[in-house]
Amino acid sequence: MTLAGKKGLVLGVANKRSLAWAIAKRASEAGAELALTFQGERLEENVRDLAATLGRESLIHPCDVAADDQVDALFAKIGESMGRLDFVVHGAAFAPREALSAPFSQTTREAFRMALDISAYSLIALARGAQPLMAEGGSLLTLTYLGAERVLPNYNVMGVAKAALECSVRYLASDLGPQNIRVNAISAGPVKTLAAAGISGFSDILGVYRERAPLRRNTESGEVGDTGVFLISDAARGITGEVLYVDGGYHVMGM
Ligand code: NAP
Repeated sequence: MTLAGKKGLVLGVANKRSLAWAIAKRASEAGAELALTFQGERLEENVRDLAATLGRESLIHPCDVAADDQVDALFAKIGESMGRLDFVVHGAAFAPREALSAPFSQTTREAFRMALDISAYSLIALARGAQPLMAEGGSLLTLTYLGAERVLPNYNVMGVAKAALECSVRYLASDLGPQNIRVNAISAGPVKTLAAAGISGFSDILGVYRERAPLRRNTESGEVGDTGVFLISDAARGITGEVLYVDGGYHVMGM
């Protein structure tokens, strides 16, 4: 699979464990030119250091996906310096920590609003921003989790946000398909990242997957990276509106 000559935007890199980074790394190895974003000054150095390892120049730009002006500024900058976009990888998600440990019925209105805004609505905002830069077609990819469909301990409001995200993938796929813009999601098995560390009891979830997934092991971020490259590449040109599981097969199990 090659991404030679393709230009892509990747959001959601916090550090080297980030799933968005796994996709960015593989995409760069496959020949893509990248723009990477960081959220807040705290992460800028991380993202710049990681980008420097790619062996090619990447555009680095701040973007809080909850702020329309920052999303607009990002696409204006990309238009100016890259001219067009072939793919966008959306790896941003957030829910307040207490919402990922308290009983679900205690979810506050504000926690619900934030989780849905940052983790689901942002894909729509990014799709809108990317559209004018994808005149020749393109591919949008997001990251979701089984908690969208089934109850996982403490995933709580993030499960609701992922359900909205997966549904948005289908509506966006229908909306943008006539412009040859594809929209897909990877439903990844649990991987120990910064975001995952905020989910109470996450290590127990890892253990259950190791024990019960058909492949009897945990998902590796490189597996998500490889599938990400497939979905954004022309090899997946017939696939849109899809949620593809990269979870060692865990989702097929009844028990
Ligand atoms: P991660 O490394 O912590 O990445 C999440 C990223 O989202 C961070 O860079 C985070 O920045 C960013 N973010 C949060 N709020 C944002 C905002 N308002 N604007 C822009 N960026 C924002 O964790 P990850 O596990 O790789 O998560 C990537 C995606 O994969 C998420 O959608 C997650 O739900 C999904 N996923 C993860 C797993 C897993 O087990 N790890 C499994 C399935 C799906 P801050 O650090 O500043 O908040």
